[in-house]
Amino acid sequence: MFIVALTGGIGSGKSAAAEQFAWLGVPIVDTDAIAHHLTSKGSPVLTQISQTFGTDFLTQDGSLNRSKLRSHIFGDTEERFKLEALLHPAIYSYVLEKLNENERNLKPIYQIVVLPLLFENPRYDALINKIVVIDCDEAKQINRAMTRSKLSEMQVKAIMESQVKREIRLNRADEVIVNNGSIEELHVNVINIHEKFIKTCVVRK
Ligand code: ADP
Repeated sequence: MFIVALTGGIGSGKSAAAEQFAWLGVPIVDTDAIAHHLTSKGSPVLTQISQTFGTDFLTQDGSLNRSKLRSHIFGDTEERFKLEALLHPAIYSYVLEKLNENERNLKPIYQIVVLPLLFENPRYDALINKIVVIDCDEAKQINRAMTRSKLSEMQVKAIMESQVKREIRLNRADEVIVNNGSIEELHVNVINIHEKFIKTCVVRK
């Protein structure tokens, strides 16, 4: 198995890049989508969340009140750690399951795990062969995140503050995709990196 982690700050273009990798035939395991799935109505993780934080964080129909929980943890590091202690092990097990399933069923040359919190989460270190960081100017990043998620500038900046610093990400990257231009330029960058990984994987086999 050859596993590439795709990471970057909020609004940097991880999803846009992952979409392009998927179009090129690379299996994508997206930890945000997994987190969403694992906390769906009636799930064991959601039960743990309501036991830990209280039923106030559920909507009337028993689903997770995501925006309420999000604002709660962004104001309080201890509470954020509590949530992460519940979520991260469950996400990690699911990621392993998906990677193994893809390996068996698709026999891919390599796979991508989209991991916004890669550097905050050392449990992935042993699993990952290469790290790709999506990077763009902070002003662009803020604008794109505001437009996409309907957040204020302050909210986006608070999320950025809670994430690892840009310099640390860039230092640890094996490959950096600069996403300052158009979507078409992003696509060209993705294709170039994809070709590089294909060559690396073929040499390894
Ligand atoms: P992330 O997954 O890193 O949070 P997204 O891939 O969702 O970021 O990108 C954030 C927003 O910016 C999305 O609406 C996306 O369509 C847009 N976007 C990403 N890259 C570009 C680009 N090169 N040009 C224009 N818009 C972009």
